[in-house]
Amino acid sequence: MKPAKSSPVPIARRGLMLVISSPSGAGKSTIARTLLAQDSQIGLSVSVTTRPRRASEVDGIHYHFISIREFERLRDSDALLEWAEVHGNFYGTPREPVEAAMAEGRDMLFDIDWQGALQLQEKMSADVVSIFVLPPTMTELQSRLHRRAEDSEDVIARRLANSRAEIAHWREYDYVIVNDDLETAFDAVQSIVRAERLRRDRRHGVFDFVTKLLEETPVL
Ligand code: ADP
Ligand code: 5GP
Repeated sequence: MKPAKSSPVPIARRGLMLVISSPSGAGKSTIARTLLAQDSQIGLSVSVTTRPRRASEVDGIHYHFISIREFERLRDSDALLEWAEVHGNFYGTPREPVEAAMAEGRDMLFDIDWQGALQLQEKMSADVVSIFVLPPTMTELQSRLHRRAEDSEDVIARRLANSRAEIAHWREYDYVIVNDDLETAFDAVQSIVRAERLRRDRRHGVFDFVTKLLEETPVL
């Protein structure tokens, strides 16, 4: 008979700030959504944006849709951890939910562009793990933008034109994933998250665990 499995030893760790970026249409939101649905330990940082809402989006879930005036108020009162202008609209990460999550050791996912990734890496380098998602080909990127069918033709053209400049930032990320087959790409993201959660410097509870371990005197 197999011995009964003991429950895992709980070891406290710091929260992870998982940043995912890509040129528009490469599939980062699809990967992010799948991760959020399958992994109850991670929550989404809901950005504010001045971009118009897409038909499939819900205010407060996908973004907080706000006016330019409100955006400027938040930015000028230091309520945003990072912000950037992307494809002609403003986007930003509300500071308070991130600081609360980090204080409680919860993981957070950020679907933000390279400018935002850079700002978070500068401010919170120990907590940030960054992934850049690439399309398999530029032709496929174009067809995904059309297949998504949520943006007008001129918005799609603008996003495609910007994609080369965005891809140029791939070296600034910890990991690079080519999203050809979605399942394979998602698998890679899960592996990264699993390994990063196990890093010694993130698991501050290891110190107490080892101290107790060495105090233990086995009965011979
Ligand atoms: P992004 O968030 O990077 O702008 P999305 O996640 O919205 O991109 O994906 C753009 C479109 O491509 C969506 O219609 C999505 O369903 C599709 N898509 C994402 N990943 C793949 C994939 N591996 N193969 C085929 N289509 C994909
Ligand atoms: P979309 O309009 O397709 O939702 O997003 C456009 C781009 O803005 C994407 O690259 C997305 O990752 C980025 N983005 C979304 N929210 C934020 C944010 O809060 N900060 C920054 N810097 N970029 C963001």
